Amino acid sequence: MRAPVAALLCLCVLFAAGCGTPDGLDRATRDPACPPGLGRGILDPGFLGPDDERGSTAVRKLLRNPDFGASDEAAEDLRGGEVDPRLVETLRTVTEQHRICVDVFKEGHFFIEGVEDGPRIPEGYGEAGGLPNTHYFGRAADIRYVDGEPVEGNGAGRAVLGVGRVLAGLPPARRPDQIIGPEEWTRTLGSGYEEGWVLEEDQLDLHDEHLHLGYTREDGTRNIR
Ligand SMILES: [Zn+2]
Repeated sequence: MRAPVAALLCLCVLFAAGCGTPDGLDRATRDPACPPGLGRGILDPGFLGPDDERGSTAVRKLLRNPDFGASDEAAEDLRGGEVDPRLVETLRTVTEQHRICVDVFKEGHFFIEGVEDGPRIPEGYGEAGGLPNTHYFGRAADIRYVDGEPVEGNGAGRAVLGVGRVLAGLPPARRPDQIIGPEEWTRTLGSGYEEGWVLEEDQLDLHDEHLHLGYTREDGTRNIR
């Protein structure tokens, strides 16, 4: 009896590895920079493949880059031209050194659950209520995973710090001027407001799970260093 059971087990293992669920396979092969369940899946309108030629050349390059992962909604914002080209360029530069997963630009972003996003940050989101909402204008991205690790709990980890160092190395005119992350990350990097970092305690507390990169202005940045 032992041999047939072993053979059956073997077959089962092979079947599972070779087939799995279509969803699982898709996520594993299409968006290796994101964990299962977060990257582009079969519901992504771009699933039908490389024939999807929407978006600028830079956007298409980014979406084809295996070191860049995006949720369905984030990928669709990119293809739809919702994302500021400066942000696309910055993300591309980061992917030269790190694998990143962006879960949101504009679509699907909210500060407070149940409160729809608008041009201004809603009251109740730390002390930032009333300030312009860079996500709403397509000028902000939230990075949730770096090199396969969640930002959450890894603020002082090599990979997440590495992203901060890439950002710090960008020229002030190209660097986001709204860089927010976990407190440990921000403190370790030691970059200041003049370099684009947000240091307010309430905002650091609200960003212990992701890195937020934003451009506060329509053109240029407020960075002076
Ligand atoms: Zn954000």
